[in-house]
Amino acid sequence: MPNSHLQEQLGLLHQLQQLELAILSLHQQRQSIPLKIAKLEEGFQVHQGALDEKKETLAVAERELRSKNAELADHQEQRQKYETQLREVKTNKEYQALDTEISYLQKKESEAEDAILGIMLDIDQIQEELRQEQASFDAEKEKVGLQKATYEQEERDLEAAVAAQQQERKRFSPDIDKDLMTGYQAWGRRSKTAFVSIVKNNACGGCRIAIPPQTLKEARKFEKVVQCSSCKRILYPLPEDEKETNQASE
Ligand SMILES: [Zn+2]
Repeated sequence: MPNSHLQEQLGLLHQLQQLELAILSLHQQRQSIPLKIAKLEEGFQVHQGALDEKKETLAVAERELRSKNAELADHQEQRQKYETQLREVKTNKEYQALDTEISYLQKKESEAEDAILGIMLDIDQIQEELRQEQASFDAEKEKVGLQKATYEQEERDLEAAVAAQQQERKRFSPDIDKDLMTGYQAWGRRSKTAFVSIVKNNACGGCRIAIPPQTLKEARKFEKVVQCSSCKRILYPLPEDEKETNQASE
Protein backbone atom coordinates (compact mmCIF):
# COMPACT_ATOMS: atom_id res chain seq x y z
CA MET A 1 0.00 0.00 0.00
CA PRO A 2 1.38 3.42 -0.85
CA ASN A 3 1.88 5.93 1.90
CA SER A 4 -1.30 7.95 1.61
CA HIS A 5 -0.03 11.05 3.39
CA LEU A 6 2.73 11.86 0.91
CA GLN A 7 0.50 10.85 -1.97
CA GLU A 8 -2.14 13.27 -0.75
CA GLN A 9 0.50 15.94 -0.20
CA LEU A 10 1.81 15.61 -3.75
CA GLY A 11 -1.77 15.72 -4.99
CA LEU A 12 -2.33 19.00 -3.12
CA LEU A 13 0.96 20.41 -4.33
CA HIS A 14 0.06 19.51 -7.89
CA GLN A 15 -3.30 21.19 -7.44
CA LEU A 16 -1.59 24.27 -6.02
CA GLN A 17 0.75 24.30 -8.97
CA GLN A 18 -2.13 24.11 -11.47
CA LEU A 19 -3.86 26.91 -9.62
CA GLU A 20 -0.78 29.10 -9.72
CA LEU A 21 -0.22 28.45 -13.41
CA ALA A 22 -3.85 29.42 -13.99
CA ILE A 23 -3.37 32.58 -11.92
CA LEU A 24 -0.23 33.42 -13.88
CA SER A 25 -2.03 32.93 -17.18
CA LEU A 26 -4.98 35.07 -16.04
CA HIS A 27 -2.58 37.69 -14.80
CA GLN A 28 -0.75 37.78 -18.14
CA GLN A 29 -4.04 38.12 -20.00
CA ARG A 30 -4.97 40.94 -17.64
CA GLN A 31 -1.65 42.70 -18.29
CA SER A 32 -2.02 42.47 -22.06
CA ILE A 33 -5.22 44.54 -22.03
CA PRO A 34 -3.75 48.06 -21.60
CA LEU A 35 -1.60 47.37 -24.66
CA LYS A 36 -4.65 46.28 -26.64
CA ILE A 37 -6.43 49.48 -25.63
CA ALA A 38 -3.40 51.58 -26.57
CA LYS A 39 -3.27 49.92 -30.01
CA LEU A 40 -6.97 50.54 -30.47
CA GLU A 41 -6.53 54.22 -29.69
CA GLU A 42 -3.47 54.44 -31.90
CA GLY A 43 -5.50 53.00 -34.79
CA PHE A 44 -8.19 55.57 -34.13
CA GLN A 45 -5.66 58.39 -34.48
CA VAL A 46 -5.59 57.65 -38.23
CA HIS A 47 -9.27 58.60 -38.48
CA GLN A 48 -8.74 61.67 -36.34
CA GLY A 49 -5.83 62.65 -38.59
CA ALA A 50 -7.87 62.20 -41.80
CA LEU A 51 -10.70 64.31 -40.39
CA ASP A 52 -8.35 67.09 -39.26
CA GLU A 53 -6.68 67.08 -42.66
CA LYS A 54 -10.02 67.44 -44.46
CA LYS A 55 -11.01 70.31 -42.17
CA GLU A 56 -7.71 72.02 -42.92
CA THR A 57 -8.25 71.59 -46.69
CA LEU A 58 -11.64 73.27 -46.31
CA ALA A 59 -10.14 76.11 -44.27
CA VAL A 60 -7.48 76.70 -46.96
CA ALA A 61 -10.13 76.80 -49.72
CA GLU A 62 -12.27 79.21 -47.70
CA ARG A 63 -9.30 81.52 -47.15
CA GLU A 64 -8.59 81.44 -50.89
CA LEU A 65 -12.22 82.32 -51.59
CA ARG A 66 -12.10 85.33 -49.26
CA SER A 67 -8.88 86.48 -50.86
CA LYS A 68 -10.32 86.20 -54.41
CA ASN A 69 -13.49 88.03 -53.35
CA ALA A 70 -11.37 90.84 -51.92
CA GLU A 71 -9.35 90.98 -55.13
CA LEU A 72 -12.55 91.19 -57.20
CA ALA A 73 -13.92 93.99 -55.01
CA ASP A 74 -10.63 95.94 -55.43
CA HIS A 75 -10.83 95.63 -59.23
CA GLN A 76 -14.48 96.69 -59.24
CA GLU A 77 -13.80 99.70 -57.05
CA GLN A 78 -10.88 100.78 -59.21
CA ARG A 79 -12.87 100.32 -62.40
CA GLN A 80 -15.77 102.40 -61.04
CA LYS A 81 -13.31 105.20 -60.24
CA TYR A 82 -11.99 105.10 -63.80
CA GLU A 83 -15.52 105.09 -65.17
CA THR A 84 -16.35 108.22 -63.18
CA GLN A 85 -13.18 109.88 -64.47
CA LEU A 86 -14.09 108.82 -67.99
CA ARG A 87 -17.17 111.05 -67.91
CA GLU A 88 -14.98 114.09 -67.20
CA VAL A 89 -12.05 113.60 -69.62
CA LYS A 90 -11.23 116.39 -72.00
CA THR A 91 -8.98 114.72 -74.57
CA ASN A 92 -9.21 111.69 -76.72
CA LYS A 93 -5.84 110.51 -75.47
CA GLU A 94 -6.99 110.58 -71.84
CA TYR A 95 -10.14 108.76 -72.90
CA GLN A 96 -8.12 106.05 -74.63
CA ALA A 97 -5.83 105.58 -71.63
CA LEU A 98 -8.73 105.19 -69.18
CA ASP A 99 -10.62 102.93 -71.56
CA THR A 100 -7.58 100.61 -71.77
CA GLU A 101 -7.34 100.50 -67.96
CA ILE A 102 -11.04 99.74 -67.65
CA SER A 103 -10.82 96.93 -70.20
CA TYR A 104 -7.83 95.50 -68.38
CA LEU A 105 -9.73 95.58 -65.03
CA GLN A 106 -12.81 94.00 -66.61
CA LYS A 107 -10.58 91.18 -67.83
CA LYS A 108 -9.10 90.78 -64.32
CA GLU A 109 -12.60 90.83 -62.78
CA SER A 110 -13.74 88.15 -65.15
CA GLU A 111 -10.71 86.03 -64.25
CA ALA A 112 -11.38 86.52 -60.53
CA GLU A 113 -15.04 85.55 -61.02
CA ASP A 114 -14.02 82.36 -62.81
CA ALA A 115 -11.57 81.56 -60.02
CA ILE A 116 -14.27 82.23 -57.39
CA LEU A 117 -16.68 79.89 -59.15
CA GLY A 118 -13.99 77.18 -59.31
CA ILE A 119 -13.17 77.56 -55.60
CA MET A 120 -16.87 77.43 -54.69
CA LEU A 121 -17.24 74.17 -56.60
CA ASP A 122 -14.13 72.85 -54.84
CA ILE A 123 -15.59 73.87 -51.48
CA ASP A 124 -18.82 72.00 -52.25
CA GLN A 125 -16.78 68.91 -53.07
CA ILE A 126 -14.61 69.26 -49.94
CA GLN A 127 -17.68 69.77 -47.76
CA GLU A 128 -19.21 66.59 -49.14
CA GLU A 129 -15.97 64.69 -48.48
CA LEU A 130 -15.84 66.19 -45.01
CA ARG A 131 -19.38 64.97 -44.28
CA GLN A 132 -18.34 61.45 -45.34
CA GLU A 133 -15.14 61.65 -43.34
CA GLN A 134 -17.09 62.86 -40.31
CA ALA A 135 -19.62 60.01 -40.67
CA SER A 136 -16.83 57.45 -40.93
CA PHE A 137 -15.07 59.09 -37.96
CA ASP A 138 -18.26 58.96 -35.86
CA ALA A 139 -18.89 55.31 -36.76
CA GLU A 140 -15.30 54.39 -35.95
CA LYS A 141 -15.43 56.33 -32.70
CA GLU A 142 -18.49 54.37 -31.64
CA LYS A 143 -16.89 51.07 -32.65
CA VAL A 144 -13.67 51.89 -30.79
CA GLY A 145 -15.66 53.00 -27.75
CA LEU A 146 -17.55 49.70 -27.65
CA GLN A 147 -14.38 47.67 -28.14
CA LYS A 148 -12.67 49.62 -25.38
CA ALA A 149 -15.59 49.01 -23.03
CA THR A 150 -15.37 45.28 -23.87
CA TYR A 151 -11.67 45.27 -23.02
CA GLU A 152 -12.30 47.10 -19.78
CA GLN A 153 -14.99 44.61 -18.84
CA GLU A 154 -12.60 41.79 -19.71
CA GLU A 155 -10.02 43.45 -17.46
CA ARG A 156 -12.44 43.56 -14.53
CA ASP A 157 -13.51 39.93 -15.14
CA LEU A 158 -9.89 38.78 -15.18
CA GLU A 159 -9.15 40.69 -11.99
CA ALA A 160 -12.13 39.00 -10.35
CA ALA A 161 -10.99 35.58 -11.62
CA VAL A 162 -7.48 36.15 -10.27
CA ALA A 163 -8.90 37.19 -6.90
CA ALA A 164 -11.10 34.09 -6.78
CA GLN A 165 -8.20 31.77 -7.64
CA GLN A 166 -6.00 33.47 -5.06
CA GLN A 167 -8.71 32.92 -2.49
CA GLU A 168 -8.85 29.26 -3.47
CA ARG A 169 -5.06 28.98 -3.15
CA LYS A 170 -5.21 30.50 0.34
CA ARG A 171 -7.89 28.01 1.28
CA PHE A 172 -5.86 24.86 0.80
CA SER A 173 -2.24 26.04 0.96
CA PRO A 174 -2.10 25.57 4.78
CA ASP A 175 -2.76 21.83 4.27
CA ILE A 176 0.59 21.40 2.53
CA ASP A 177 3.61 20.34 4.64
CA LYS A 178 6.06 23.11 5.36
CA ASP A 179 9.09 21.34 3.86
CA LEU A 180 7.33 20.54 0.63
CA MET A 181 6.06 24.09 0.44
CA THR A 182 9.56 25.48 0.98
CA GLY A 183 10.92 23.27 -1.81
CA TYR A 184 8.05 24.26 -4.05
CA GLN A 185 8.59 27.97 -3.42
CA ALA A 186 12.36 27.70 -3.94
CA TRP A 187 11.75 25.99 -7.27
CA GLY A 188 9.24 28.67 -8.18
CA ARG A 189 11.83 31.39 -7.58
CA ARG A 190 14.31 29.67 -9.90
CA SER A 191 11.98 28.46 -12.58
CA LYS A 192 8.57 29.40 -13.89
CA THR A 193 7.86 25.77 -14.79
CA ALA A 194 6.03 23.09 -12.82
CA PHE A 195 7.71 21.62 -9.73
CA VAL A 196 5.52 18.54 -9.47
CA SER A 197 5.85 16.33 -12.50
CA ILE A 198 3.09 13.87 -13.29
CA VAL A 199 4.42 10.53 -14.47
CA LYS A 200 3.07 9.76 -17.93
CA ASN A 201 3.80 6.49 -19.76
CA ASN A 202 6.62 5.79 -17.29
CA ALA A 203 8.28 9.07 -18.25
CA CYS A 204 8.74 12.34 -16.40
CA GLY A 205 5.92 14.70 -17.46
CA GLY A 206 8.28 17.64 -17.03
CA CYS A 207 11.27 16.64 -19.15
CA ARG A 208 9.92 13.52 -20.94
CA ILE A 209 12.89 11.39 -19.86
CA ALA A 210 12.01 7.74 -19.21
CA ILE A 211 12.05 6.89 -15.52
CA PRO A 212 14.07 3.81 -14.55
CA PRO A 213 11.74 1.05 -13.21
CA GLN A 214 13.41 1.11 -9.80
CA THR A 215 12.87 4.86 -9.42
CA LEU A 216 9.27 4.52 -10.57
CA LYS A 217 8.70 1.77 -8.01
CA GLU A 218 10.12 4.02 -5.29
CA ALA A 219 7.94 6.90 -6.36
CA ARG A 220 4.79 4.75 -6.32
CA LYS A 221 5.45 3.80 -2.71
CA PHE A 222 5.16 7.45 -1.67
CA GLU A 223 7.47 6.77 1.25
CA LYS A 224 9.74 9.66 0.38
CA VAL A 225 9.93 12.39 -2.18
CA VAL A 226 11.45 11.03 -5.40
CA GLN A 227 12.94 13.43 -7.91
CA CYS A 228 13.42 12.97 -11.63
CA SER A 229 17.13 12.23 -12.07
CA SER A 230 17.24 14.48 -15.10
CA CYS A 231 15.24 17.63 -14.28
CA LYS A 232 15.00 17.26 -10.47
CA ARG A 233 11.24 17.80 -10.44
CA ILE A 234 9.25 15.81 -7.88
CA LEU A 235 7.73 12.76 -9.50
CA TYR A 236 4.04 12.31 -8.89
CA PRO A 237 2.64 9.03 -10.20
CA LEU A 238 -1.14 9.36 -10.36
CA PRO A 239 -3.24 6.73 -8.59
CA GLU A 240 -3.89 3.70 -10.85
CA ASP A 241 -7.40 4.65 -12.02
CA GLU A 242 -6.42 8.24 -12.76
CA LYS A 243 -3.31 7.01 -14.50
CA GLU A 244 -5.37 5.02 -16.96
CA THR A 245 -7.57 8.03 -17.68
CA ASN A 246 -4.48 10.11 -18.08
CA GLN A 247 -2.96 7.69 -20.57
CA ALA A 248 -6.21 7.22 -22.43
CA SER A 249 -6.47 10.96 -22.96
CA GLU A 250 -3.09 11.12 -24.66
ZN1 LIG B 1 12.22 15.16 -15.44
